Amino acid sequence: MTLKVGVIGVGMIGKEHIARLAVKLVGASVVAVADVNAKEAEKVAAALPGAKVFPTGEALVASPDVDAVVVTSSGPTHETYVLAAIKAGKPVFCEKPLATTAEACLRIVEAEIASGRHLVQVGFQRRYDRGYRALKKTIDDGVIGAPLMIHCAHRNPTVPEAYVSDMAIVDTFIHEIDALRWLIGDDYVSAQVLKPRNTKHTHSKLDDPIIVLLATKSGVRIDGEVFVNCRYGYDIRCEVVGEEGVATLPEPESVVLRKGAKLSTEIMQDWKLRFIDSYDVELQDWIAAAKVGAVNGPNAWDGYFAAVTADACLRAMHTGEIAPIVTQTRPAFYA
Ligand code: NAP
Repeated sequence: MTLKVGVIGVGMIGKEHIARLAVKLVGASVVAVADVNAKEAEKVAAALPGAKVFPTGEALVASPDVDAVVVTSSGPTHETYVLAAIKAGKPVFCEKPLATTAEACLRIVEAEIASGRHLVQVGFQRRYDRGYRALKKTIDDGVIGAPLMIHCAHRNPTVPEAYVSDMAIVDTFIHEIDALRWLIGDDYVSAQVLKPRNTKHTHSKLDDPIIVLLATKSGVRIDGEVFVNCRYGYDIRCEVVGEEGVATLPEPESVVLRKGAKLSTEIMQDWKLRFIDSYDVELQDWIAAAKVGAVNGPNAWDGYFAAVTADACLRAMHTGEIAPIVTQTRPAFYA
């Protein structure tokens, strides 16, 4: 059986996911698209044999021709479409964020629980990255003993002028927020944000770099650097310090060059290339799970937890204080 997928939002990542679903991956076909930008939706659909354009995301979700939904529209629109998919009983892959407020994420959690089925997957693709998976296995196998500290960094060469301080948390560090919690299977209890001296490459609306300090329930301390004008490349680093050893996220594969009296490897420039394989694995897994009607990747509770943590990081960044991270009790549905 081919999973008939409808995609809402045909912007940058929407087009990428459509190309994956339609060409690269197996078991799915894109049968429907919708976007507020109807012209763009028409253009995208024209390249997909048999695909229909729907006037609204809601109409797409309701169509009997659509088995499952991918939401890649802008963040503030996610809640509406995810709730519509749950109501229709259709599996839905929603790009991060699940919703732009913790309250909205909670409404999704409650709706999913009420439906009695696991239908929602959030686009936290790092959980599907080969390096992160190897690192998690090392930790889970007890090779380094109990984790005590994590040192990590998220560096981009540059960002557009419209990128401002809050985006360092909600668009960038959000990936660490989810990946690190998953990596060590521990929830956060507080956040603090430190602001070192700004790089000369930033502007008045962006503190860059920042350091986010997180503490977990079991007492693990995390320091996460976000430096989005680092100039030299897109570089994701993560080192987990345990009682018996230290485990480090592997570097992406690159030819080791001996030339001109130097030993060197390439550093990627583009986040899309860094995680290209993980997006493929993520969506291929989702197709397989959606076909049997219950998804099993990062779930609505993970989306909610990430939203609450991001809110605390923002509060900490704006006040300079340590912000507690307080969530509802995890429902048994997400045990
Ligand atoms: P984008 O290029 O702006 O695309 C979003 C598209 O949604 C645009 O075509 C936009 O149309 C359309 N849209 C806006 N409101 C809509 C509505 N109510 N109904 C249907 N379509 C609507 O943004 P993007 O970079 O692709 O990002 C989309 C989402 O993916 C964001 O939530 C982003 O955080 C997430 N994302 C995740 C990753 C990751 O690594 N997991 C990477 C990139 C993006 P207009 O342009 O006309 O408004």
